[in-house]
Amino acid sequence: MRAAIFEEANKPLTIEDVDIIDPRPGEVLVRTSCSGVCHSDLHFIDGLWKLPMSCVLGHEAAGVVEAIGEGVNYVQPGDRVIMSFKPFCGKCYYCLSGKPNLCAAPEFDQAAASRLTWKGKPILQFANVGSFAEMMITTENGLVKIPEEMPMAEAALIGCGVTTGVGAALYTAQVEGGSTVAIIGCGGIGLNIIQGCRIAGAANIIAIDIIDSKLEMATNFGATHTINSKETNLDEAIKEITKGLGVEYAFEAIGAPAAATEAFNIIRPGGTAVVVGMHPLGSDISVPGPYFLQEKKLIGCMYGSTRFREHMPKLIDLYLQDRLDLTSLVSRRLKLEDVNEAFRSMKAGEVARSVLEFT
Ligand SMILES: [Zn+2]
Ligand SMILES: [Zn+2]
Repeated sequence: MRAAIFEEANKPLTIEDVDIIDPRPGEVLVRTSCSGVCHSDLHFIDGLWKLPMSCVLGHEAAGVVEAIGEGVNYVQPGDRVIMSFKPFCGKCYYCLSGKPNLCAAPEFDQAAASRLTWKGKPILQFANVGSFAEMMITTENGLVKIPEEMPMAEAALIGCGVTTGVGAALYTAQVEGGSTVAIIGCGGIGLNIIQGCRIAGAANIIAIDIIDSKLEMATNFGATHTINSKETNLDEAIKEITKGLGVEYAFEAIGAPAAATEAFNIIRPGGTAVVVGMHPLGSDISVPGPYFLQEKKLIGCMYGSTRFREHMPKLIDLYLQDRLDLTSLVSRRLKLEDVNEAFRSMKAGEVARSVLEFT
């Protein structure tokens, strides 16, 4: 099959012929329909995160089941599915305590290193998905079935950005109706946090970015106020909008330590700052210690604190009722060989999401 290979940081991906195994017991082979191009993939290309070996990146995808291994009964060939980059083992402490998004089973890392070969050598399938490829393979517990009426490009985005962003608002922060919230960074994740806050009934949704076109998109997704923090003093603008109180919830959706500090600084006493961005390995976030006496909270987020088999179908319901906008997130539809162009336009801040379409 054709796949985009990542070999080295700061070099373009190359399209190569890669071998994929037949599904082993418990595994499912999926023909890729669409793959989103997410910022987390870019972190590896930029060298901010490291991988142990050559790899097929891509972790936000939907496709059609091609074949199943022995013992698989959740799906059949022909079923339409969204891939999860966090398969659940169903046996570990986290799975059994209702947090499969934190599943730490080592078997998935081992499996992801044993399914693809290129030039006779094993290469890694990123996050048990590896969707910059014509085919993907995962455990039966790494996908969720979706209905016929769900379009594939929109479905793919639920695989990461939508679930992470909407989930950060609904399930991590649990934003209450009538709240005042701020979102720092209006890329793919930030726009979905904005929609999540809108769905939760937040009254004031303040979008913060340094690019005006992104702030315009933020307004289309439900922001009630926008702040260009390059042109305006952020702290003063927040004070003005919130009558000096600060916001109740702030979300950091960039992956920059300074932005996380800012999120903490703009919440009011008792408020919650959620770090959603993927921060560089080795980075530290600094916040003023005395503010914890004001019961300010700084919390993390993995996959929007979701249980994907439960929550992805709920997001699909919201989409099918026109209450969750996925179509406007799809800025460009490209082919696999355009993957480097997709990263360029992401870096330039031109798109909410590029989607690679496979035929
Ligand atoms: Zn992602
Ligand atoms: Zn587990």
